[in-house]
Amino acid sequence: MKRYFIHTFGCQMNVNDSLRMSEALAKMSYEPTPVPDNADLIILNTCAIREKAEDKMLSALGRYRTVKASRKALIGVGGCVAQQEKDKLLKKVPYLDFVFGPDNIAKLPEIIGRVENERERVVETAFVDSEEYVFPRADAETSRGKVTEFVTVMKGCDNVCSFCVVPHTRGREVSRGFTDVLLEVADLARVGVREVTLIGQNVNSYQGGISFAQLLLRTAEVPGIERVRFTTSHPHDLSDELIEAFRTQPKICPHFHLPVQCGSDRILKMMRRDYTVVQYLERLAKLREARPGIAVTTDIIVGFPGETEEEFEMTMQLTEQVRYDNQFSFVFSPRPKTGAALRENDWGPVPHEVKVARLERLQKVQRRISGEYTAALVGSEVEVLVEGHSKYDATKRFGRTPENRTVNFEGDAQAGAIVKVLVERSTPNQLAGKQVALLQGPTVAPVEDPVEPQTCVVAEA
Ligand code: SF4
Repeated sequence: MKRYFIHTFGCQMNVNDSLRMSEALAKMSYEPTPVPDNADLIILNTCAIREKAEDKMLSALGRYRTVKASRKALIGVGGCVAQQEKDKLLKKVPYLDFVFGPDNIAKLPEIIGRVENERERVVETAFVDSEEYVFPRADAETSRGKVTEFVTVMKGCDNVCSFCVVPHTRGREVSRGFTDVLLEVADLARVGVREVTLIGQNVNSYQGGISFAQLLLRTAEVPGIERVRFTTSHPHDLSDELIEAFRTQPKICPHFHLPVQCGSDRILKMMRRDYTVVQYLERLAKLREARPGIAVTTDIIVGFPGETEEEFEMTMQLTEQVRYDNQFSFVFSPRPKTGAALRENDWGPVPHEVKVARLERLQKVQRRISGEYTAALVGSEVEVLVEGHSKYDATKRFGRTPENRTVNFEGDAQAGAIVKVLVERSTPNQLAGKQVALLQGPTVAPVEDPVEPQTCVVAEA
């Protein structure tokens, strides 16, 4: 059997796409290898959201050149950089065999066949921006023994945020029919999955025959499913109906990732985010009223072109005011073809050292707030869905709370069980403690540390 290795960069959508690739390769009698050195096929599934991720991909590609020379391995690049660069990548990297965009994963066997049999260098980056698009369906058997899984419900984005490359690399929004989504969820539940995360670049603008709120409610009713999550959302699609779903269905986890991007209305306008800070806070207040204690996380871009010190202070104040549980904050980096990249010089680039200094200040504030949330839980009992053993200490167990806080604990509960854990210690990002009660056992015989094709999927932000 030939062996493959997939190196994944970026978001959860990419991790999920890599799993679909691994399923397609398994059907071609490829088996996974956890190291690239003995691979016959190496795929880099790439991210273009920030310059750094793209640079990392190019440096990994350089490292795999030796595998190409010694084993004659085939090397392909998929994902957002592939979509953005198309055949330019083949010119830039002479030892690259194929390039394919996110909409062409189903064509992977055909692409590899052409490379192997016809010795062609292949580029497949056409978008399928319509009902014609066929969402790759997860093979439920691949998920046997897993506790939590991702289910793609839509792809692409119809917004035009001026900093974002996604509309250029993932195309227009296409939603997956709700019956197809629910069938996949039911299949996953049958093999023991207890938590699903519905994913899409702009997931809460879902239009697959029912509203997104309805989709969440129907997913929560699938027998065996105990927790429902989703990512990632745009504030303007946080509807009253979605807020009501949080009020009425406890299986919808009390965690909302709601990207705000910055705390200044002027910068939000330049970012082409169609809300003001006041409107954002009003939505959030409604959500918190409907589900008290809900954990709220966000994305923030620091040093957007033209951002003044005063405007950055507004982002700091917003962070203090909202008291996010956590945030993913980054310095602005211009992405090809985006409005902000084209106008950066007009608006005034923020010097790199200023951006980095602002980011450090913001992250320090966020670490303090995150630490206050987790410290407040010491001495209390939290509900944990057990995912397996702790990666820090194999004698301990690992799981997450409904609010998506990670917990390492002493106990004997099997993967798939739901337990109560007494919290004894905390850091800003983790809780630690001991199991005090078993609330529910797993729904199927657990497979501890299942050997999955995705063991070869190395993910890197
Ligand atoms: S809504 Fe999200 S994915 Fe769409 S353009 Fe804006 S930042 Fe990018």
